[in-house]
Amino acid sequence: MSGRVLVGVKRVIDYAVKIRVKPDNTGVVTDGVKHSMNPFCEIAVEEAVKLKEKKLIKEVVAVSCGPQQSQETIRTALAMGADRGIHVDVSGKDYENLGPLQVSKILAALAKQEDAQLILLGKQAIDDDCNQTGQMTAALLDWPQGTFASEVSLEGDKINLVREIDGGLEHIKINTPAVITADLRLNTPRYATLPNIMKAKKKKIATVKPADLGVDLTSRLEVLKVEEPPQREAGMKVETVEDLVVKLKEAGRV
Ligand code: AMP
Repeated sequence: MSGRVLVGVKRVIDYAVKIRVKPDNTGVVTDGVKHSMNPFCEIAVEEAVKLKEKKLIKEVVAVSCGPQQSQETIRTALAMGADRGIHVDVSGKDYENLGPLQVSKILAALAKQEDAQLILLGKQAIDDDCNQTGQMTAALLDWPQGTFASEVSLEGDKINLVREIDGGLEHIKINTPAVITADLRLNTPRYATLPNIMKAKKKKIATVKPADLGVDLTSRLEVLKVEEPPQREAGMKVETVEDLVVKLKEAGRV
């Protein structure tokens, strides 16, 4: 395979930020809150850039669907080594309703338009924890999928994958074109260096609207309410293991 890879990069609230629910329970507070690239997307970008460095693919295209600020996320991907970006401009109410199905429709349309051979995504976004976009994109395109990948190697038109599954590792071989989702142990993403951040400013980001791709963003899903998780109770302190066992027995935990 020596073609083009699309990498989905989602802008999310930074993993280190303490999330606050809006007082009216319609969502979480995002104004004035630090955002970054979803950590699993960083792993997907790293993998794509590595494949390019090994000359196994020709071009890495970073795609982000969201408001204007999503371009910052694309710039980070460009500074990590992606060649160009596509910003799919989704804002306002459409952005509030943007879920895995809508993103998958956009990615599937772009894959056809760009004649991509591979779509690399994070296994999940840390904001909505959906873990659905890769699977839905593969289904819409009728492409094979390799989810939760912890090793990827290309062999002609085939991809050898190691998948992280419950209780072990699964080794599979799939045909290209394909969709792969990156798990935590696939690689360690590089930091964008200052020279590469400067170089990335010159790389191109195209902006398109979902309608330009023939994608209707209507959602069948309505978020009714977002609420804080229950307060955690303070943990108990014990001096010895014996005390711990007694306390656990009292609490009916053993
Ligand atoms: P999810 O299914 O929402 O957990 O997201 C899984 C992966 O899909 C993310 O790690 C991204 O690679 C991709 N993805 C989801 N939403 C977007 C978005 N708005 N823009 C670009 N990629 C996205």
